[in-house]
Parts: sequence; C-alpha cells; structure tokens
Amino acid sequence: MRICYVVAMVAEAKPFIERYGIQLVEDFFSPLPCQLYEGEVNGATLNVVLNGQQQGSDLIGCEAASVATLSAIQRLHPDIVVNSGTCGAFKKNGADIAQVFIGSGVMFHDRRVPGDNTWGTQSLGNYPVWEGSQELAKALGMKTGKVTTGSSLDMQPCDLEIIEKNGGELKDMEGAAVGFVCSLFNVPILYVKSVTDLCDSGAETFEEFSRNLHQACEALKVANEKVIDYLINDPKL
Ligand code: SAH
Repeated sequence: MRICYVVAMVAEAKPFIERYGIQLVEDFFSPLPCQLYEGEVNGATLNVVLNGQQQGSDLIGCEAASVATLSAIQRLHPDIVVNSGTCGAFKKNGADIAQVFIGSGVMFHDRRVPGDNTWGTQSLGNYPVWEGSQELAKALGMKTGKVTTGSSLDMQPCDLEIIEKNGGELKDMEGAAVGFVCSLFNVPILYVKSVTDLCDSGAETFEEFSRNLHQACEALKVANEKVIDYLINDPKL
C-alpha cells in the first residue's frame, strides 16, 4: 500500500517528515519544482510530495498543487492521496486555532462564472472526497468540514458570499486543485486540515496565520500519525 501526502509548505510537512524519518529523493521530479520524500511505515510506503519552492519561498496555491498531484499520481501510483496543511476556518462554526478537521467535500470559492448547469457548476468544483473520510473522522474523534479553495489568503466579500452559499468551512489555497486532479484519475483523496486563523475573527489574516503556524503544524503531525495508522489498517484500501 502506498499513501501519498501532497503538502504545500515545508513548515506543514516538516514535523511528520522528521517523525517518520523519511528521506528526500533528490531530483525525482526534475525539472519540476515538487519534491519527493519517501519511507516505510509498518510495511506501507509513505510518500510526502511538497509543492516545492521558487525564489526561496514555498509554492503555495493551485497551480503548484496541480503539478505536484499530477506528477505524484503518474509517477508513484498511490492507493490514496492525502492533502494535508493549514487553513482558515470560522468562529461562527465553532472552529478553534490548531483544531484538525477531515474534509467532507471540496469546492472553489473565487471562480465567479455564471451558468447554473454549465460553467458555473464546473467552476465550483465540488469534487468527490474519499468515501471513507467520514468513518475515519468518526473513528479518530475529529470534526469534518467542507474544504473551500481560492487563490488568495485574504477573503473578499464576494468570496464569503460563495462560501456561505455553498457550505464552505475550511478555507485554503490548494485543496480543490488536488481534488480535481485526483478525480481525473479516480484516486481517492482525503483532506487533513489544521486551523491557523479564523476568517471571522476580525484579526489581520497573515498576522494570525504566522502567529499560529507552529502550533497548527504540531497538531497536524499528531493528527497525521493517527490518520496514517488508520489508513494502513483500513481493509478498504
Ligand atoms: N508562505 C507564506 C504564507 C502562506 S499562505 C508565509 O508563511 O510566509 C497560506 C497557506 O496556508 C496556503 O498554503 C493555504 O492553503 C493555507 N491557509 C491557511 N490559512 C488560510 C486562509 N485563511 N485562507 C487561505 N489559505 C490559508
């Protein structure tokens, strides 16, 4: 069994790369920017694919996440892809900083295209998540929420309108891109997202994100240990 994590930021992946002692496979995806880490966990292969870096900073966002996911699926043939990282969430839904959620669905919130049954619907995404996601969340005592993806860290009123109309709860910058690519290959996708900021807290998002990044990523590592154990023992995979 092969579990493949797709992660945007080094800070998000580092705690569990170190926890499992998995190793960088140099130039595996060259000339693409994504980077492969690989190791064994209880007889299963664990891959972590990072989006990579440009000009000294992590390649966050949908374009790099699509490239990483496509390359990972074509080269590694994983049984499941896990998109793990940080997100914004909403106080009004009861979310807290460093709380880890499992994705119950995934959509885009900044593709404003009209057309109910054509481009409008397609633009929202709403790709399928792994059918075992709810059961995993229940077994591990984690809450679930719908991942909602856009290309910006801030949230404009028009984003909020689409998020509220479509039940978005966990705001990130990669989830739906990863889900789109997985849907093309029929590869199951599981989301594990840790909250760095509350979109309705009134605080400046980048400041709140930076202040909570370390704590959220430590919580992500603890959650991912449980997720990996669960997936390795899941007879459905
Ligand atoms: N690289 C920058 C900032 C990271 S931007 C730095 O640290 O200097 C945010 C990253 O965290 C994205 O990968 C995104 O998926 C996630 N994220 C966390 N909170 C978010 C929010 N409120 N909205 C959108 N993405 C968020």
